[in-house]
Amino acid sequence: PETITIQELANRMSERGVDVIRLLMKQGAMHKITDVIDADTAQLVAEELGHAVKRVAESDVEEGLFDTPDLESDLVSRPPVVTIMGHVDHGKTSLLDAIRHANVVSGEAGGITQHIGAYQVTAPNGLPVTFIDTPGHAAFTAMRARGAKVTDIVVLVVAADDGVMPQTIEAIHHARAAKVPLIVAINKIDKPDARPERVRTELLQHEVQVESMGGETLEIEVSAKQKLNLDKLLDAISLQAEVLDLKANPTRSAEGTVIEARLDKGRGPVATVLVQRGTLDVGDLVVAGAQWGKVRALLDDQGQTRQDAGPSFPVEVLGFSGTPEAGDRVAVVESEARAREITEYRERQKRDQAAARGGSGRSSLSDMMS
Ligand code: GDP
Ligand code: MG
Repeated sequence: PETITIQELANRMSERGVDVIRLLMKQGAMHKITDVIDADTAQLVAEELGHAVKRVAESDVEEGLFDTPDLESDLVSRPPVVTIMGHVDHGKTSLLDAIRHANVVSGEAGGITQHIGAYQVTAPNGLPVTFIDTPGHAAFTAMRARGAKVTDIVVLVVAADDGVMPQTIEAIHHARAAKVPLIVAINKIDKPDARPERVRTELLQHEVQVESMGGETLEIEVSAKQKLNLDKLLDAISLQAEVLDLKANPTRSAEGTVIEARLDKGRGPVATVLVQRGTLDVGDLVVAGAQWGKVRALLDDQGQTRQDAGPSFPVEVLGFSGTPEAGDRVAVVESEARAREITEYRERQKRDQAAARGGSGRSSLSDMMS
């Protein structure tokens, strides 16, 4: 049901809350300024106070905000966005670190990478690849729950000395449900007890057929510890991306998803946003969940400021008025009024949902990915 607080109603009419309360009292209802009233009552109040009422259907508020179509001719290739999954201790964090570190060292010597929740590296073939590096955070779960698809490819890490384990199987199922292709990274091949053949056979039992066994799933034997075959893994990702023919329109206004967000003491709310379509520019008005802001600065994973960020590029966004949540979808809007309309609507929705739900559950996916 559509509702509004008395405060919000008063604000929208530029009336005093007390006048609204007084009017409701005349009709026999006692209210506080923070009380929620239904849309019909709100309409009566507004009309009584001489305001023209335009009822906006709930679904209209976000109309045109996301997924508006692009012209085929505007689409250009974009980098793949990769998430690493696998059983605990199979080497997800080590692999993410190794890939990032290898790239930083080869790029600018001694460059300090900062953790922003996602990073981009260059594959040996020269093409960029974006990694979401907060597997353990609630981000992935939250994103999927909200219908935001941020991952193009899942790299499934399986330790060669341990084989397929329960969370490996879960990851396979999740990737399948999300219709995201897998690339298998058989990790820890440096270990004397590594048995990559066993991993292949076990994967087969879960309908993952790797290339060397006649299947279609790319597989690379790696060692995160010894930084072995990381280039081959990146090449495999690029190859898979080519098959997927990933494209986006960089010329439209930006859409994306919040990967991570926090309140920084000095800088205020800081959100890592993965841009998915369009180009995000400094000065853009953005909404994310129930928050909005004007982009004050954009920083990449090396801490360098940027003027803009195109498709598949992860950036830290400064300028939000409040801290959005991981998984919130981001969109650029044309005016402050629109930003307020959307975020106020979402704020109301959040309150309603929280009231209806009570507690919140924790998904196994977030555990699996840590
Ligand atoms: P996660 O739980 O999947 O993130 O796994 P971690 O990256 O934390 O790794 C778990 C353990 O395996 C750590 O002690 C790592 O040092 C070790 N490890 C990760 N990759 C390799 C590898 O390629 N070879 C060997 N020998 N050990 C590894
Ligand atoms: Mg880890």
